[in-house]
Amino acid sequence: MAKMRAVQVTRPKGPLELVEREIPEPGPGQVRIKVQACGVCHSDSLTQQGLWPGLQFPRVPGHEVVGVIDAIGKDVTTWKPGQRVGVGWHGGYCGRCEPCRRGELFACTKGLVTGVTHDGGYADYTIASDTAIALVPEGLSAVEAAPLMCAGITTYNALRHTSAVPGNLVGILGLGGLGHLAVQYAVKMGFRTVAIARGKDKEPLAKQLGAWKYIDTQAQDPSAELAKLGGAKTIIATVTAGEAMSAVQGGLDINGSLIVIGAAESMTISPLILLMGRRSIKGWYSGTSIDSQDTLNFSLLTGVRSMNESFPLERANEAYERMMSGKARFRVVITTGN
Ligand SMILES: [Zn+2]
Ligand SMILES: [Zn+2]
Repeated sequence: MAKMRAVQVTRPKGPLELVEREIPEPGPGQVRIKVQACGVCHSDSLTQQGLWPGLQFPRVPGHEVVGVIDAIGKDVTTWKPGQRVGVGWHGGYCGRCEPCRRGELFACTKGLVTGVTHDGGYADYTIASDTAIALVPEGLSAVEAAPLMCAGITTYNALRHTSAVPGNLVGILGLGGLGHLAVQYAVKMGFRTVAIARGKDKEPLAKQLGAWKYIDTQAQDPSAELAKLGGAKTIIATVTAGEAMSAVQGGLDINGSLIVIGAAESMTISPLILLMGRRSIKGWYSGTSIDSQDTLNFSLLTGVRSMNESFPLERANEAYERMMSGKARFRVVITTGN
């Protein structure tokens, strides 16, 4: 059997180990992807730390995968070898459970998650469901496309499903891996985009990404500043600190929404702010494969790009540590050389 390199975790909180494995064969309805690049996302820590319920080891993390289909399983009719594709967090759906039958594929009760319920992209090859892959347009390199498969789709898909229309004030809370993409998407969608983050030093970056205004939460009250600008129709909260999320709710315009995409443990909500202005708070799930494809195409069309630091597969451990340190500017991507 031919062998490949893979980086796996064998126990909760265990190290990322580079091992040799047999190249897997695609089953019915699956494709094999020869991986070119895989982004390193904070959610990979759910696998590394064994936090996902029922997680089985050993497991290969990675849900920002881009590569080329090199083999297809039985019954795969809409994809063929040679096509360049990506796969993200959403690992496929059954089409038969109640959420699927209602068209809410993201909520499939079978819940396939790439790099969590099955092996992901920290490897030379990975197997993906043919319902979970997105076509990658030619104009994007693998390294450019990889972070868009999670950080990109999450911010783009959340933004395009809000009630904000071009010209409306939209706040982006946080300027990290998600936030630096969210600001770009909001600008390209025609929103008056206000970037909100901690520290004066992030202002030049916000402006470089196209933000109309910048609010430094260390020096200013973000709710008061947003209110002065007329209030935000939408605020996308990309941070993982509940306190920072709580601090912006007073900056929503009437009928405005705070959309939570950062996994904070808890936050404080003022019922008075919600009911007096008919404001709302909701969460957003990244999306399915066609949403990924839309994200990639929109990014190519409008020039939205993630800022990346690349590491070869052999240095996956270092890449992961770099991401976890929070010091990466802004997404970390593993490359295989394939
Ligand atoms: Zn992710
Ligand atoms: Zn289902």
